[in-house]
Amino acid sequence: MKKILFLDQSGKPGGAELCLMDLVEPYKDSSLVGLFEDGAFKSLLEQQQIPVRVLGEQAIQVRKESRFWQSLGAIGPLIPLLGKVVQLSRSYDLIYANTQKALVVGALASWFGRRPLVYHLHDILSADHFSLANRRLAVTLANRFAALVIANSQATKSAFIEAGGRSHLTEVVYNGFKLDLYDDDAGNSARIRQELGLDDRFVVGHFSRLAPWKGQHILIEALTRCPERVTAILVGDALFGEADYAQQLHRQVAELGLENRVKFLGFRSDVVALMKACDLVVHTSTSPEPFGRVIVEAMLCCRPVIAAEAGGALELVEDGKTGWLVPPGDVVKLAAAIDKCYQQPELRDAIAHQAQTYARQTFDLDRINQQIDRLLAKLF
Ligand code: UDP
Repeated sequence: MKKILFLDQSGKPGGAELCLMDLVEPYKDSSLVGLFEDGAFKSLLEQQQIPVRVLGEQAIQVRKESRFWQSLGAIGPLIPLLGKVVQLSRSYDLIYANTQKALVVGALASWFGRRPLVYHLHDILSADHFSLANRRLAVTLANRFAALVIANSQATKSAFIEAGGRSHLTEVVYNGFKLDLYDDDAGNSARIRQELGLDDRFVVGHFSRLAPWKGQHILIEALTRCPERVTAILVGDALFGEADYAQQLHRQVAELGLENRVKFLGFRSDVVALMKACDLVVHTSTSPEPFGRVIVEAMLCCRPVIAAEAGGALELVEDGKTGWLVPPGDVVKLAAAIDKCYQQPELRDAIAHQAQTYARQTFDLDRINQQIDRLLAKLF
């Protein structure tokens, strides 16, 4: 049985962490997830009986605006963490870094401990998301130390190569999803609609942590151009220090007089039932999305989806066939697309069914995990 040391910097369950949780599953009897901080992600792993250990109290601060030498300087606080990871890695055959800061520690540990390193890249390494310093740091470490870089989309792979990453190291593997989770909701979605007072509404769902580039403000503004019955639920919380943005969204709703048409539900773990309670799911990221788990999840729930036309979303949605694409940040076009969906129930049903069939064929977790296993097998 392969023994893998998975590393992730986050104690919070973002998309990269939820993806990791699914791909660790086949290795859980012989592997360990090392987290750099404590939090809800650890509890989620424990619920799945996945061995997990919190390795550090202090996360590395590699800030977006930091210069290269500052990024390197920020590695200082990591030294105790690095010692632990090097020690631990002796009991494992491979180190699997799932985030950028995990790459920093994983790269050095793989060098000291002479273990192969895999870097699972969930980020678009472009100026939209990262400073030049951080891009350089990630690419330099990946090129020098990783035996394999798994990119979560072609968009992610292209940005990695454009930032100087080596193409021959990189394989694209999409996120996988447990298809049976989407089969039946046992009346949960009807209950949710009733509890939230949404019975007679046309419900547009937005599922994402609250962060400026996720563009919740774009949806809120678009609502002012949509029929009164159109109501939004915003599912997600400010996970990574974006509390100001969350407050800004609440102010925006109050200023636009939309209190009865926007509901903030915070972070939820019943995303499937909530999506099924929606008539439509929208994705509004203003910068290119690396993959966009929520887009696939909506498809698997058989809900029509409108996505921002950039990054990984272009690989997931075929406009007019498996969903609709609108230019990122374009309030007017988003409102028009929502209105079209609202006015044409048959069209939205047809699109949702086509998308569901496509998503079930393309993003089956068992198949994706086999793909990863074949890639890892070459490294042992
Ligand atoms: N999600 C969740 N609860 C929430 C909001 C989001 O479990 O309240 C999940 C969502 O279902 C998806 C993930 O968080 O699986 C977000 O992944 P995505 O790729 O869309 O964005 P990321 O967080 O990676 O930027």
